[in-house]
Amino acid sequence: MKIIDLIRDEKPTLSFEVFPPKTTQSFEDVRRATEEIAELMPDFMSVTYGAGGGTSAFTADIAEHIQKTYGVPALAHVTCVSSSKEKVASVLDGLEARGIENVLALRGDIPDGLDASCIDFHHASDLIPVIRRHGNFCIGGACYPEKHPESPSSLDDIRHLRAKVDSGCEFLTTQMFFDNNILYNFLYRVREAGINVPFVAGVMPVTNAVQIRRIMAISGSVLPARFVRIVERYGDDPEAMLQAGIAFATEQIIDLYANGIRAVHVYSMNKPEVARRIMHNLSAIIR
Ligand code: FAD
Repeated sequence: MKIIDLIRDEKPTLSFEVFPPKTTQSFEDVRRATEEIAELMPDFMSVTYGAGGGTSAFTADIAEHIQKTYGVPALAHVTCVSSSKEKVASVLDGLEARGIENVLALRGDIPDGLDASCIDFHHASDLIPVIRRHGNFCIGGACYPEKHPESPSSLDDIRHLRAKVDSGCEFLTTQMFFDNNILYNFLYRVREAGINVPFVAGVMPVTNAVQIRRIMAISGSVLPARFVRIVERYGDDPEAMLQAGIAFATEQIIDLYANGIRAVHVYSMNKPEVARRIMHNLSAIIR
């Protein structure tokens, strides 16, 4: 099933993200967590890609397992900045052989010391035409409602986003955000820029205080004051923080659906408990 067909439908969709193990030893734990999330029957599941590409086989294995065993469409992430054209072609061959039809095309973070003069791909918009020529994939890309950290301005970032869509990207998944007004404002600006593909809104349920510090460092997301109060009050109590983080994410998702956003993607981080509770809280809403 192509994700573009799912998210173009009137019905609201809810999807979850998992990440592959870094080592063979932890493969079984990740696989079990993935299975528990797949048993919830989300509309689709995405499987991230280790930045250096060294664990790309795990991404393909997990995506195939989700799809073949549970019938849940899988979206396999592929990054390109540290990869050669040959490596990308072999990853795409592997996905195709496993029946994966959906790919999230990403540049990836630039590793320290990478020599820009000898790399094959500089941006996701260089990768997308390669995937398009390679096979019959539905291709998504990433976008950043609070702008990509490297971008000098939102205007620049949206201009590059337009080029990414023009290169063949069929839908866009957003970086996490914690204030829905940031997304609504971003959507006005991208539509004005002539970007008309469907958006999938990325929501991260924050369930511990350490996670929040990491998120801030990676994404530069703005935290609304009311969320900061929650972390200050419950951050040292794991059970209370889990409950509060899930309640906050649930409220955020309900507001998104109520305001016409039809596709929501939850950064569930290999945590079946988080996925289960979110799904339960939304059972009548996504029916
Ligand atoms: P690009 O679209 O190439 O943009 C990167 C920067 O370059 C932006 O600042 C953009 O404005 C600028 N730019 C784009 N085109 C041009 C151009 N032609 N000229 C000049 N500047 C340009 N990382 C992983 O390693 N694995 C994953 O599985 C993964 N999954 C992700 C999923 C989502 C939904 C998101 C939001 C991010 C994910 N990331 C993942 C992180 C991502 O790889 C990084 O954010 C990376 O720095 C940018 O990737 P991109 O594809 O958005 O890059």
